Amino acid sequence: MRRALLLGTLLLSLSAPAAEPSRAQVLKAARLFDAKTGKLVTPGVVVVSEGKVVGVGPKAPVPEGARVVELGDATLLPGFMDAHTHLTVEPGPDWRKDVIDSFQRTIPELTLDTLPWARTTLMAGFTTVRNLGAEDFIDVGLRNAIARGNVVGPRILAAASSLSSTGGHCDYGNSWRKGLLARDASPGVADGPDALRARVRENLKYGADLIKVCATGGVMSFNAEADAPQLTQAELDAVVDEAHAHRRKVAAHAHGAEGAKRAIRAGVDSLEHGTLLDDEALELMKRKGTWYVPTAFAFHGVKELADKGNLPPDNVLKLRAVDQRREQVLRKAIALGVRIAFGTDAGVFVHGRNAEEFALLVEAGLPPAEALRAATVNAAELLGVSDRLGTLEPGKLADVVAVPGNPLQDIRATRKVFFVMKEGVIHRNDAAPPSPTATR
Ligand SMILES: [Zn+2]
Repeated sequence: MRRALLLGTLLLSLSAPAAEPSRAQVLKAARLFDAKTGKLVTPGVVVVSEGKVVGVGPKAPVPEGARVVELGDATLLPGFMDAHTHLTVEPGPDWRKDVIDSFQRTIPELTLDTLPWARTTLMAGFTTVRNLGAEDFIDVGLRNAIARGNVVGPRILAAASSLSSTGGHCDYGNSWRKGLLARDASPGVADGPDALRARVRENLKYGADLIKVCATGGVMSFNAEADAPQLTQAELDAVVDEAHAHRRKVAAHAHGAEGAKRAIRAGVDSLEHGTLLDDEALELMKRKGTWYVPTAFAFHGVKELADKGNLPPDNVLKLRAVDQRREQVLRKAIALGVRIAFGTDAGVFVHGRNAEEFALLVEAGLPPAEALRAATVNAAELLGVSDRLGTLEPGKLADVVAVPGNPLQDIRATRKVFFVMKEGVIHRNDAAPPSPTATR
């Protein structure tokens, strides 16, 4: 009996959130970021019931018996979204050891490894992520386990296997990382429009929410140069046509201008990285309303690996090749008014550092309010979840984070998220004394 009770408490402390979602809650802070207008509202008040926002502002009616959560000199924001993560990988301290690991670890082990990464991402304030490429449908499984409440992590939109040409950037037989050196090719690899259509269908059959396609070479693979196109116009047209027929979005990895332009012309919903885009590509994106997900912090993160000697020499050279013009391209995109959605490529660097992207966007010319909008209202639009996420408005899911002070004055406050609520459940509150069952 006592043992059962102890076990019960232990299980609760491992999986149970700090507050039950059914009881109404009132979150109070000095300010609230209105993602719709990009303006701060004072004071910040959000009323939450049954996992949803039911009122905003000091005049919102408060249900009887509601619990008040005082967060002090802080700013309430919608839960952040990262439109480009890889929750199923992370660099270890030595890439050579990662190679050995890739031969030795089974799919269940690789899956279990993702649990702390998912938790860290949520605790950093990212309540929703778009996972752009994972092997063996691990991202689909992780998504489902989180949605069922068995695992603590962000809400995931999963792309499953990235589509790639044979030997292309997302043919992970070309990488030292993904546990796939022993295989001929990744499951997302195909050549020719019809074969790629089949890959789209296969991903959707096994539960993918969207499609990721690699239109050019990249930094972290061992193949051709990062800017080389790797799929034809007809191939990209087929991928986008098939995905859109199923009402699913397409994210295209692209560094070089030619591959990017083929992807943009094909009608992809977002272009990822885009480090070497030319003016024609940027203007085409602006005209077509293609989202740009620059993943600026990815290149800082990979540079850190290189500086520590933790990157194979070939990849160091490729990093230098894309890093030269990257910042200039981002500046141009911002100045031109290309729509920006927040994404980091987390997993290329260690998880939980996602918020470091904000300052890089601001340094490249994006006003702080626009950087915050990129990770909230804009990302929600790109992900197709604007009906339930992206702003703090009655009827939306109660995904709320708090940062100290005023993030419009100091965007780096976004790195200090100390309160995280997802669908009305508090997963982190450093302002409150820890309760015996609180999860940290
Ligand atoms: Zn990526």
